[in-house]
Amino acid sequence: MTNVLWLQGGACSGNTMSFLNAEEPTVCDLISDFGINLLWHPSLGLELGENLQGMLWNCVLGKIPVDILVFEGTVVNAPNGTGEWNRFAHRPMKNWVSDLAKVAKYVVAVGDCATWGGIPAMDPNPSQSQGLQFLKRQKGGFLGVDYRSKAGLPVINIPGCPAHPDWITQILVAIATGRIGDITLDEFHRPQTFFKTFTQTGCTRNIHFAYKATTAEFGQRKGCLFYDLGCRGPMTHSSCNRILWNRVSSKTRAGMPCLGCTEPEFPFFDLKPGTVFKTQTVMGVPKELPPGVKQKDYALLTLVAKDTAPTWADEDFFLV
Ligand code: SF4
Ligand code: SF4
Repeated sequence: MTNVLWLQGGACSGNTMSFLNAEEPTVCDLISDFGINLLWHPSLGLELGENLQGMLWNCVLGKIPVDILVFEGTVVNAPNGTGEWNRFAHRPMKNWVSDLAKVAKYVVAVGDCATWGGIPAMDPNPSQSQGLQFLKRQKGGFLGVDYRSKAGLPVINIPGCPAHPDWITQILVAIATGRIGDITLDEFHRPQTFFKTFTQTGCTRNIHFAYKATTAEFGQRKGCLFYDLGCRGPMTHSSCNRILWNRVSSKTRAGMPCLGCTEPEFPFFDLKPGTVFKTQTVMGVPKELPPGVKQKDYALLTLVAKDTAPTWADEDFFLV
């Protein structure tokens, strides 16, 4: 039996929605087939009021073992470092996080808010939000650079806005079945199995990318979204086109640019008119190019690619 305690800080519940929609495995599979015992979850927990508070104290005191502490949402520190803006079970949530992180065997941060601060931590960050072990790209976050859970691991980060449901349930299974040691974390504590490749890997528009065939409209069946609509697929580490959403499609397959939601800097856009869903360019060349591509080479390649594009590179593909 693996006890899982899921708490939520400054969040929109998007990762809870994602989790509840998991398919491989489902939340029910976690319980029936993988020995997960959900101690409490904001949408599924049965305990309320004094009972919930008592259960949390029993976890803090070690009377109930916490095998996995899952945290969704930011750690809210406002006002003035007190955390009073986000109270839960009679005390600031940040105090629960601090106490429970000391006794948890593993800590898993789910979604951008819990990993790097996400949207709540955008400037000017009025809620003084932090991720569990990062604030954007900067290491440290609420628990500090040196934090290690009882099992000796840092916080396992599953970013995304929201995180893909199967990324969440598969990591819980890996821990519950003792296979988490086989999974390597990258420098941002993301499991490489989901975050080593780029969103572009598996995108059905790769041929359009190669031949610089663009689309400036959402939802079209042809054209790459990089050149006009600011797609961040080539710069973003995620498996969105390998492990499809709802087992059917992905954002870029459906004609919506990747916003780079699994990277620490997300959201990349500011709210100035003309900056969202618009590729920023300097003299016609995108300001930000895929890693390893030089501006000068890119400009040359563009000329060649457009000139050598076969007719079929501009064909519709079957939209899934
Ligand atoms: S739509 Fe985005 S992810 Fe797909 S090929 Fe173009 S840039 Fe890459
Ligand atoms: S396609 Fe990009 S923005 Fe969309 S979920 Fe995947 S990583 Fe996030």
